[in-house]
Amino acid sequence: MLLKVDNLVVNYGVINAVKGVSFEINEGEIVSLIGANGAGKSTILKTISGLLKPKSGTITYEDHEIQSKHAPKVVADGISQVPEGRHIFSGLTVMENLQMGSFLVKDRSQIKHNFDAVFERFPILQQRKNQDAATLSGGEQQMLAMARALMASPKLILLDEPSMGLAPIFINEIFDIIKEINKQGTTVLLIEQNAKKALSIADRGYVLATGKIQLSGTGQELLANEDVQKAYLGG
Ligand code: ATP
Repeated sequence: MLLKVDNLVVNYGVINAVKGVSFEINEGEIVSLIGANGAGKSTILKTISGLLKPKSGTITYEDHEIQSKHAPKVVADGISQVPEGRHIFSGLTVMENLQMGSFLVKDRSQIKHNFDAVFERFPILQQRKNQDAATLSGGEQQMLAMARALMASPKLILLDEPSMGLAPIFINEIFDIIKEINKQGTTVLLIEQNAKKALSIADRGYVLATGKIQLSGTGQELLANEDVQKAYLGG
């Protein structure tokens, strides 16, 4: 097992956003966490990546607990987050955005290898490497945000709503890229409101409602589940 979240409770002041959530991710998997607006998906992701501290519960990554670690240490350990809304650095070029992603990588040959790998996967970013990142389209910015996360050589990548706000053609491309990244060895935790797409590429999934896991199963099992269909698949 690569990551185990056990009985996680996260509050914002008096608001109890995550109410005792447990789930796990095995090495090599794509795991999707789906749920409506406000279910607590982003809160869980931010807690794994060290941006929020839980009230209680544990997050175990590769046999050690990380719930008290600061975000830079979590990245250095091999977990990178692609935030909701991309948060690319505007005013910096594509190249500079990617360099920021490799900030914690010490080995220069590893950085060179990562640049080659992301430019091979995202040729559009190579074409636009000297362009201000703010001038990229929404889909290209999502690619840049994913590429920036890959520059840190993660074992586990956390994707927060990668399809949000994108045209259908870009959505398909982004999901294809997620599958490819996974095939090449990166484990994926995918948070999505586009439940159909997310479950269709997931090995396993969890359904989150108001801060609690309601259901879990393989991606295919959840897609076929009547309650999931009614609540999240419009059917
Ligand atoms: P969305 O898809 O809308 O981002 P989500 O499932 O990711 O939804 P969260 O963003 O994790 O949900 O929010 C979970 C709950 O915590 C919601 O009730 C939300 O209003 C609340 N919440 C989120 N961020 C804060 C904050 N900074 N301060 C107070 N409450 C917050």
